Amino acid sequence: MEINVHHMELSCVNGPGLRLTLWVQGCALNCKGCFNPGTHAGEAKTLMPIDELAQKINALGVVGVTLSGGEPLDQAPALEQLIHAVNGEKNWILYTGYTPKEIFQNEAMIRVVKAVDLTLAGRYRQNAKHPYQYKQIIKTSERVDVDFFRTRRVVEFVVSNSGVTKTGLPVYI
Ligand code: SF4
Repeated sequence: MEINVHHMELSCVNGPGLRLTLWVQGCALNCKGCFNPGTHAGEAKTLMPIDELAQKINALGVVGVTLSGGEPLDQAPALEQLIHAVNGEKNWILYTGYTPKEIFQNEAMIRVVKAVDLTLAGRYRQNAKHPYQYKQIIKTSERVDVDFFRTRRVVEFVVSNSGVTKTGLPVYI
């Protein structure tokens, strides 16, 4: 099985500690004002075999992985396999546009939410003071400090051969 990946970067602003943030490709939710429209198309961007990606993650000196997008739960079976293929020392954060009600009606999505440590769930709202103001939190462990999302508003700029990308929580308040 493969995961359709938009891109990934090391980051300190998409969860506590140095993390790999994995932006998946593909999202049909079409939230108004979405800040990442380049991830919507469902066509293959970079198809990564799960075992290969798990080996890369295991070799990184990161505390965890953040799943973002695009819509990670549209690739729920592949993500579930990835999480179980990575060593148990890494913690996992999931950003999803699906609401808890939608998630809990779908067995594949439920398995991913149970496998990660923290999920921030719900549609992006354009009028929010910051992108996660209206997200609902689902916790399955104490391994991720929830206060990170209440107290930190930091933006990171990543410069690469393909240009400059911005990620994190800008200050709107
Ligand atoms: S779920 Fe995320 S990627 Fe998808 S449209 Fe909404 S904000 Fe954009």
